[in-house]
Amino acid sequence: MTDQHQTASLAIPYAWQQQQWQRVCQLSANHQLPHALLLAGPKGIGKRHFAQAVGYLMLCLSPVNQVPCGSCKGCELNRAETHPDLFVLAPEDGSRVIKIDQVRRLTDFIAKTSQQGGRKVAVIEPVEALNINAANALLKSLEEPSGDSLLLLVSHMPSQVMATIRSRCQQLEFPMPDQEQSLSWLTPLSVGQDAGYLLACSGGAPLKALELLEGDALEQRELLAKGLLALAGHHISALELAAKLQSGDPLTVVESVMHWLQQGLRIQGQAQDQPTEQVSEQDNQLQQLLASVPSQILFRFWDKLVSLKRQLLSAANPNKQLLLEELMMDWQALARQSSQASESRQRLVNGLI
Ligand SMILES: [Zn+2]
Repeated sequence: MTDQHQTASLAIPYAWQQQQWQRVCQLSANHQLPHALLLAGPKGIGKRHFAQAVGYLMLCLSPVNQVPCGSCKGCELNRAETHPDLFVLAPEDGSRVIKIDQVRRLTDFIAKTSQQGGRKVAVIEPVEALNINAANALLKSLEEPSGDSLLLLVSHMPSQVMATIRSRCQQLEFPMPDQEQSLSWLTPLSVGQDAGYLLACSGGAPLKALELLEGDALEQRELLAKGLLALAGHHISALELAAKLQSGDPLTVVESVMHWLQQGLRIQGQAQDQPTEQVSEQDNQLQQLLASVPSQILFRFWDKLVSLKRQLLSAANPNKQLLLEELMMDWQALARQSSQASESRQRLVNGLI
């Protein structure tokens, strides 16, 4: 029992990651594990957790059935999060970027021999948080692999990762988990909230859904949805709404709008009678509004959102107020397209055109 408990406290992959886990275990058993793996897939589905689990497995001295034993020296060090041969490279001190100094520490780690005599594992999360200099520094480590190290690069946007980095990694795909698996994981954790609703708000990503339960994330999201609807209905100005949203995280604002946009496009692409996801009234109104905007305009807006997201993730330290104002003005222009579209449809119905 104790052993089981100890193993459970070390990360093991989620139920929806079994296929990828088998793949890694098989590669390892056949001594075919590449020097670097790129774990690619949408945000909020547990790729970092998976990378950590791979690290724990690789550093366990006697794994049992492809799971860390939980009691060896390697497992003990990992449980205490002090294993000297596991290196995690992620943005530090509230920053969104991984700085070149941090990559240099990683390069040193790879150059040295392992302290426990086994492998060395480095987790880099997310790769797109590397600025150009940091990415080039990492590239050196990828070009001159050291035999005993495994680099696990996590990416939510693999297309944004430098091609030279991508080409030096073996890519492991993590698709959006299936809804049933996500719900059975999320339901016991979402006390007092409807797991189906949380999952729908997160575009199906179970860990992202769980994050909505933290702090006032759900209220912020509702506030944003109401604000966007008010702006579309001319009850508030773009600048007023941008000012209201100042206190929140602009990245969350951009990502939420991206989510609604995706839903709008999804509705456009499906049959009318297909049931929509279990969402709130505001979500529903926003999605319907977006679904009535011509798709080429939605795609243009999507590109804009991607660019805003990139700005927010970059080291450039963008002006959040300006960025939010720009976004809200774009939203207003887009919403106008929607009402124009429905007005002209109405005129058609009324026989005015
Ligand atoms: Zn062990």
